[in-house]
Amino acid sequence: MKLFYENDANLNELAGKTVAVVGYGSQGHAQAQNLRDSGVQVLIGARPGPSWKQAEADGFEVVSVAEATQRAAVVQILMPDERQAQVYREEIAPHLRAGQMLLFSHGFNIHFGQIVPPADVDVAMIAPKSPGHLVRRVYEQGGGVPGLLAVYQDATGTAKSRALAYAKGIGCTRAGVFETSFQEETETDLFGEQAVLCGGATALVKAGFETLTEAGYSPEIAYFECLHELKLIVDLMYEGGLARMRYSISDTAEFGDYMTGSRIVTDETKREMKKVLTEIQQGEFAKKWILENQAGRPTYNAIKRQEAQHPIEQVGAQLREMMTWIAK
Ligand code: NDP
Ligand code: MG
Ligand code: MG
Repeated sequence: MKLFYENDANLNELAGKTVAVVGYGSQGHAQAQNLRDSGVQVLIGARPGPSWKQAEADGFEVVSVAEATQRAAVVQILMPDERQAQVYREEIAPHLRAGQMLLFSHGFNIHFGQIVPPADVDVAMIAPKSPGHLVRRVYEQGGGVPGLLAVYQDATGTAKSRALAYAKGIGCTRAGVFETSFQEETETDLFGEQAVLCGGATALVKAGFETLTEAGYSPEIAYFECLHELKLIVDLMYEGGLARMRYSISDTAEFGDYMTGSRIVTDETKREMKKVLTEIQQGEFAKKWILENQAGRPTYNAIKRQEAQHPIEQVGAQLREMMTWIAK
């Protein structure tokens, strides 16, 4: 896979240009501050409210999204994905000029056609593979988090070099930038969060907790075994893969891992994963999510309320009171 580092990117591509960061949340604050420290001229686009105030308190010039679009050469869109299309239509599109570059940190809106930019602007993605606070912290320590680069539309012939300059500005080329496509990034991101990281992991944790408590074991012990300790295991996998985790656990646990894992995540589970992937690829999930938002999120809100009532959440809240090291 092609990788780009510091020497492949030139910050001069952005010299004398203004970069507008639209949205000042998790990614917005981190990317904007890193760019500024890299010597890039940054302007924040926001709506009146907490983010606007925070960006000003952090020393940035803050203007409306429309004005930021007018004044910038590069516009990085860092609002929640489900809000981007409307703000784009109303406040960004009317002010776009030929030769500007639209940047994203996730491909959803471009890939699923919710944002259709004019043919005379560049469209690219620089996506840090990390939450915003780490994007900032690692940069401050002199490093950077890995990132993804994708070019969707190259109107000027400089889309890639400008996107790489942006990646350098936020620190990603210090670690390495992988080239991908909007399609690959969007589909794999959605699949990962649904099947493994969020949907898969929470379902696994809940099923384990329910199995133990339904068999009469105490919820406190079940919480520790099925949720709390997951962090220790995941940290080991993060640092050194499955092998390091298995090296660190007892041989009994390792034997149990080999005997039982494939009985829990079965061929049937994998067949279902393939269906989930197909639904993502065919845009069925995207359509569901877009309509859900247009309807005011009835399903999302109902399930969110239900999930908060799950016994694992009740007992967890009590137990975490004892854990003084966990940030409130
Ligand atoms: P957040 O939810 O943290 O931040 C959203 C920001 O958008 C806030 O500053 C909010 O301001 C602003 N906003 C919302 N609506 C509007 C509006 N109508 N007009 C102007 N500003 C608005 O978003 P994230 O940083 O999590 O996500 C941004 C992008 O980055 C997404 O595409 C996401 O997929 C991607 N991404 C996120 C990662 C992460 O770690 N969170 C990781 C990698 C990619 P206000 O205070 O006014 O509501
Ligand atoms: Mg995602
Ligand atoms: Mg044990």
